[in-house]
Amino acid sequence: MTTPLVDFSRLCIHTMTTKPWTLEETIDGYTRAGVPAITVWRQHLEPYGPDEAGRMLRDSGLRVVSLCRGGFFPATNAAAREEARNDNRRAIDEAAAIGAPLVVLVCGAIPGMDLADGRQQILDGIAAVLPHAQAAGVKLAIEPLHPMYADSRSAVNTLEQANNMVAALRSPWLGVTVDVYHLWWDPMLKSEIARAADSIFSFHVCDWRTPTRDILNDRGMMGEGCINIKRIRGWVEDAGFRGPIEVEIFSNEFWDWDQTRLVERIKQAYLSAV
Ligand code: ZN
Repeated sequence: MTTPLVDFSRLCIHTMTTKPWTLEETIDGYTRAGVPAITVWRQHLEPYGPDEAGRMLRDSGLRVVSLCRGGFFPATNAAAREEARNDNRRAIDEAAAIGAPLVVLVCGAIPGMDLADGRQQILDGIAAVLPHAQAAGVKLAIEPLHPMYADSRSAVNTLEQANNMVAALRSPWLGVTVDVYHLWWDPMLKSEIARAADSIFSFHVCDWRTPTRDILNDRGMMGEGCINIKRIRGWVEDAGFRGPIEVEIFSNEFWDWDQTRLVERIKQAYLSAV
């Protein structure tokens, strides 16, 4: 009998997963638990500012995987579109300040706007901010969202659409994020992951609860839902991805837990279900 290897070297947790913690508490909680990497959400950055947060993160030794999130490019008028682009430029600067090599894009949608128009505005918006990203040395990743968010959060709902945008803009600074929660249902997922190949910049995991009690904040712990996470991880690794595996769980239930206990639960689930 051999003991299974306990290896957390690729584990990363999003600050939104442990939302009740401040960034300071998060850094402390992750380092105490032996979690080596963190993805920072902007609202956890805000109270400190990017320079102070960057200092805290560098001192912690945690690997900063990405900043979440940029995006929300579509708008009903040109001034609002330009403001959205400027906000993305600020997100890129914040990422650079905290040592995050990547900004993840939740691309946006406007209720009632034709989805094709929304996608064109997203493509134009990404094209407009890409030079800023390149100058800052920060990559951008398009994260397709589940179609249930097509009304107001993202007009990019499949990996195929995201891959098409990456192909259209042809920049080494633009890629995709594969999030199992958003993409597990897609019959084209395996082939689109293979197509994405080197442009897979990040990989997010959680699980799909049945029933889902809240459209936004009822994501499941890995292994407690219907997503075959190991299979999708296999496809992503077959495509060449060797980066961090990021646990991103928005859950009213888990946010009520003691967050130290939640991190331990995540470590167990990471070993058994990912
Ligand atoms: Zn995600």
